[in-house]
Amino acid sequence: MGITIRPLNSGFCTSNPKTYHYHFSTHKYYPNVSNEDKPLPVFFYLLDTGSEVILVDCGMANADRANTYHHPGSWQDPDQASPAAVRKAGYDPDQVTKIIFTHLHWDHTFYMKEFKNATYYAQRKEYEFAMNPLPLYYKSYEYKWLGIEAPFIGCEDRFVLLDGEAEIVPGVRVYPTPGHSVGHQAVEVDTKDGTYHIIGDAVFLMDNFKPIPEIDYDVTPTARFVSLTDWWESVREIKRRCPDLNMVLPTHEPTLVERFEKTPVLGL
Ligand SMILES: [Zn+2]
Repeated sequence: MGITIRPLNSGFCTSNPKTYHYHFSTHKYYPNVSNEDKPLPVFFYLLDTGSEVILVDCGMANADRANTYHHPGSWQDPDQASPAAVRKAGYDPDQVTKIIFTHLHWDHTFYMKEFKNATYYAQRKEYEFAMNPLPLYYKSYEYKWLGIEAPFIGCEDRFVLLDGEAEIVPGVRVYPTPGHSVGHQAVEVDTKDGTYHIIGDAVFLMDNFKPIPEIDYDVTPTARFVSLTDWWESVREIKRRCPDLNMVLPTHEPTLVERFEKTPVLGL
């Protein structure tokens, strides 16, 4: 049996399409993009390799924390908290041996300590920035200045820090996709369907992959990034490695909700 992927939804996080998802230079070409906050799902992914259970990210914080420190209007049902979601999918959180983080933002790392047998994998650059972020990113990384503790604090000896591409286990590999965050990475997973690319927030929406020929853009840039030049090259790299965008699995694309209701397990 090959590796299977179970997409799990950890809740919904609200954000503004104009200030988050579509760069201002693209607004003219997306006349229907709203200026009203919109809820986006927060998926994380459970990989069953046959011998190990591995998570890619572990979802957003509870509703109270999300609303107080991050995006007001966000919500998480109790059974969407990542340990509960893992149980609901038929696994025990103690079975999880590894968590691969695309990046260390608050909506990808919460409850990580509850997977007590897991080793954590992140890019070294991401980890170092997360431990000492610029003030602009205090909220994203739940920096102590806010008076709260980030989920990854106190876990130093459980992290494996990566410098670029790496194989985590046979059939599961990472490659750097910086831009949304400094040390963002994507995860390639070989399955019976082919190789899926779990890409975190390398794009928010599948629209971000679309070219805009009128202005010679080969992608639709996002409005939220640490480096838009890195972001652009990373999205090109994902498209180069994975021309079939049905095999690309981001965190926040809303159409995935319906898709995964129909297909709760990929690679079966
Ligand atoms: Zn995110």
